[in-house]
Amino acid sequence: MPIRRLPQSLINKIAAGEVVERPASVVKELMENAVDAGATRIDVAVEAGGRELVRVVDNGCGIPADELPLAVASHATSKLAESDDLFRIATLGFRGEALASIGEVSRLLLRSRPPEAPGGVQIEVTGGRASDPAPCGCPVGTAVEVRDLFFNTPVRRKFLRTNQTEFGHLSEAFTRIALGSPEIHFTLKHGERTVFELPGGEDWRGRIGRFFGRDLAESLIRVESTDGDVRLSGYVANPSHSRGNNRMQYLFLAGRHIRDRSLQHALGEAYRGLLMTGRYPIAFLRVEMPPEMVDVNVHPTKLEVRFQDAGRLYSQLLSTLRNKFLTTDLTAQVSTATGDEEAAPGAHDPARAAQFRQELVDWAKGKVAEWDTSEGAGGEASAGAGFADGPAPAGHAPLELARLDRGLAWTPPVRASTPTEGAASPGSPASEELAPDAPIAASRASAVQIHNRYLVAESREGVTIIDQHALHERILYEQLRRRFESGAIETQALLVPEPVDLSAAEAAAALEHRELLAELGMKIEPFGGDTVLLSGYPAMLANLNPAEVLHELVERLISDAKPPERRDLLDELLHTIACKAAIKAGDRLQPEEIEALLSQRHVIDDAHHCPHGRPTALVFTREELDRRFKRV
Ligand code: ADP
Ligand code: MG
Repeated sequence: MPIRRLPQSLINKIAAGEVVERPASVVKELMENAVDAGATRIDVAVEAGGRELVRVVDNGCGIPADELPLAVASHATSKLAESDDLFRIATLGFRGEALASIGEVSRLLLRSRPPEAPGGVQIEVTGGRASDPAPCGCPVGTAVEVRDLFFNTPVRRKFLRTNQTEFGHLSEAFTRIALGSPEIHFTLKHGERTVFELPGGEDWRGRIGRFFGRDLAESLIRVESTDGDVRLSGYVANPSHSRGNNRMQYLFLAGRHIRDRSLQHALGEAYRGLLMTGRYPIAFLRVEMPPEMVDVNVHPTKLEVRFQDAGRLYSQLLSTLRNKFLTTDLTAQVSTATGDEEAAPGAHDPARAAQFRQELVDWAKGKVAEWDTSEGAGGEASAGAGFADGPAPAGHAPLELARLDRGLAWTPPVRASTPTEGAASPGSPASEELAPDAPIAASRASAVQIHNRYLVAESREGVTIIDQHALHERILYEQLRRRFESGAIETQALLVPEPVDLSAAEAAAALEHRELLAELGMKIEPFGGDTVLLSGYPAMLANLNPAEVLHELVERLISDAKPPERRDLLDELLHTIACKAAIKAGDRLQPEEIEALLSQRHVIDDAHHCPHGRPTALVFTREELDRRFKRV
């Protein structure tokens, strides 16, 4: 084929592909224009998840009649005058292609009236063809209606998901912009339903509360710091609130919502030791810096930016949070929170609460950071530290030994049925259970529980310290996976079906993956709005709060940007269920329970790691002990 110049409309369609992916993209672009226009009120209304209609009405500066055709033409913008401006962007838009791109793949109607104009003017664009501007009646400001998105690009249209899913994305786009501009009054309507009504001029905490609940908003910790020209401010959540994914980390650069891996990493680092593995901090942070210190023109939807000095910003965020945590009393709240997080039984155990408090205080003093220094030695050191803290009055060796002795005394003999029984005496050649990487004591097959969270066992090659939660979780996971594969997960019908309130995005995801959830024993139905009705529940989770488990599963469902593969999803969900159902750190175990737990250890292929990738056990070899006690 000879080389040809592409016709403009095809160029626009290709460009539209980059900017307009789904109704949420339309909402984002139109809202950004309205914010750039200096509006103090922006009303968004959509029909059918935005696929039939997206309407955004603002009371901003409007567009003069003679500029209307330019507004919908590609590469026409009022926001950049010369090329240098590209490095001093102070508006949300600047490429001048949004309206053109949207008009290319929809039926767009734009009405606008600047304050000084006697009346309004409208222009229509259908599949890229613009009408002549014509006078119309309209209030000051701009109203844009986008109907039948992708009516002329059937392939794109096919990629749209259910109305609910699309609305989920769309309301997330709305959330980001409304969080970025708390001074503006925003509303969002889906069909007849008003989903959000956010009065203007709110403080940021207030606005955050409207989206994510007062409970969370009130627990937020204010942070603020300035380093040269860079100002960082906003809120981070008390560790008692966390999520199973990083979607609740909202970063704003001059009102623009951005994603930044490096800053997300800094957040994770700042919370290290405060959150369980697999949990992510919640944060709402604003970065302000002179526009020339950042390039916002590196990503088609401007979601990512490039900071001139990313390393310095990383350190600023990390040290701001670390300092804040050091001077904030997180302990009281965290002790209840860890209860939430882990399980009801432990939450009422004052000794355990005290222990957690102590650990947090230690953490704040920087101890945890020291424990963490190296992989191998780190594990060992933290196990050591575990002996020293906790409810026991002191960490002297004699006391610990005495406790160990007592522990051993009540440990019942091995039952004949346990599979580890085969290898009777130390050094016997028998079972594969005694392979060096399967170190549980087969000889006396018993262990002592310490601090209600670790099991200490003698093994042929030394001493093994087992994380009871991690081990149980791993065992349950394997059992669940096998049961699932043979189709044997039991559902228990709830006597009274339970309505569960979710966010729009969560409800959409839950309903979309309804069948998969049902296979896992979780039966849900739509119940109007963002509420779903839970009618059946995995029988093995009977002692857990169904709504909470559903929340957790749904968080997993939406934690990826791309729709997850069914297999991965399933795996995630099984992990979540296993984690929920497993005994917790803090649960006191009866000797029989310890035996049962250890005897099931053969179920696991990879005994060393819980599904989250944490080790289930640490091994101290006899040689190492001998060396440390200077016997060799
Ligand atoms: P960009 O926002 O990148 O400039 P758009 O295609 O989104 O490009 O908009 C083109 C131009 O139309 C803008 O530069 C602005 O001048 C004008 N415009 C668009 N929407 C509005 C609005 N809601 N109010 C006032 N002017 C608008
Ligand atoms: Mg724009």
